[in-house]
Amino acid sequence: MYRSRRFWPCSNTMKNKFALYVHWPFCHARCAYCDFRAFPYQEKRIPAYADALQKEIRLRRNETGEAVLSSLYFGGGTPSYIPLEYLSAAMQTIAAHFVLPKDREKTIELNPEDVTGPFARAIYRMGFNRVSLGVQTFHTGLAEYIGRRHTKEQAIQAVQTLQEEGFTNVSVDLMTGLPGQTKRTIAEDFALLRELNIPHLSVYALTLAEHTRMHRQFMEKPADFPDEDEERALAHFAAQEAEKIGLQRYEISNYAKEGYASQHNTSYWKLKDYIGIGLSAASYYRGSHEKNTDSLREYLQWIDRHRIPVIEREKLSNEQLYTELLLTGLRLKEGIRFSELRRRTGFSPETEKKEAFVRLREGGLITFDDRRMGLTARGTDLLDTVLLELLD
Ligand code: SF4
Repeated sequence: MYRSRRFWPCSNTMKNKFALYVHWPFCHARCAYCDFRAFPYQEKRIPAYADALQKEIRLRRNETGEAVLSSLYFGGGTPSYIPLEYLSAAMQTIAAHFVLPKDREKTIELNPEDVTGPFARAIYRMGFNRVSLGVQTFHTGLAEYIGRRHTKEQAIQAVQTLQEEGFTNVSVDLMTGLPGQTKRTIAEDFALLRELNIPHLSVYALTLAEHTRMHRQFMEKPADFPDEDEERALAHFAAQEAEKIGLQRYEISNYAKEGYASQHNTSYWKLKDYIGIGLSAASYYRGSHEKNTDSLREYLQWIDRHRIPVIEREKLSNEQLYTELLLTGLRLKEGIRFSELRRRTGFSPETEKKEAFVRLREGGLITFDDRRMGLTARGTDLLDTVLLELLD
């Protein structure tokens, strides 16, 4: 099994540094709430896509020149649906073209039902040191309702197998607002997380995107779904439970034990450089947002012609950058440093927006001192109000 020899120690001399995301858009089946660009039942298309990904990695390396990766993330879709040989080949190509320091986070998203001992061992040997496990709920009936394919026992077993194979950094995704979910079912999920000693957790509220199976179910039987107040109560309850088991909230939807906050996602929230490889992948690089095509046919054609399949590129003005830094940075508990805003955008909101700052503080929505600003718990619930005031 492959073990890279190119996980070099971090080079401080190399200035070019970014997080790398690799997208695998294939899935076993479509989940009932999913409106992502995902391809269920399309395993025939995986080999050509995997080959194109490797070519895109090389094309990107030509474009960026030598670079150190601050983190690596294989997401989807369902990367654990992809045969190991393709995951391994992509890892080898990345390691051959970029510096990937040993101590940096290398995450792969997995579905619980795919995790077996040999699979976990293989991805560990490839160099992944963090897993994001799509559990959503430990309740078999609820999981089935939302179109997930694992049972409670499989989800528990997946975590234990990963831990036995050396993964100390396993993150679990949970959802709130599911039909039939109660505080009791959520408390049971958290009791399991405590037992399993999970160091990182993401909690997302269900969103009912149009044209999904769950949206149709909602239209037919809205009473089966929690209303807005119940939804908020469940989300608050989950947040309290997380803190009770020692997971500190460090971002609106994310909780971690000390030292386990996600390096990769923090690059997104702080709008540091990141490059997305693969179908519909997004990048922020050297001050511009970029997006790859979301047509699989077009993606393969562009790569075949040795072209990076970027179909949108927008250089951000200082004003746009300021807006985005607020939008993403305020999600973080540590808040935003004024010096960082000033350095990157030239704006000093603490002086230019002083009245709004005072109003928001008086309303109990933000805290600030002369160095940084952040949201209170109430402000976290009312983020849109805060943004409206600060971006006005
Ligand atoms: S595994 Fe993820 S991407 Fe695939 S169908 Fe389910 S939610 Fe969508």
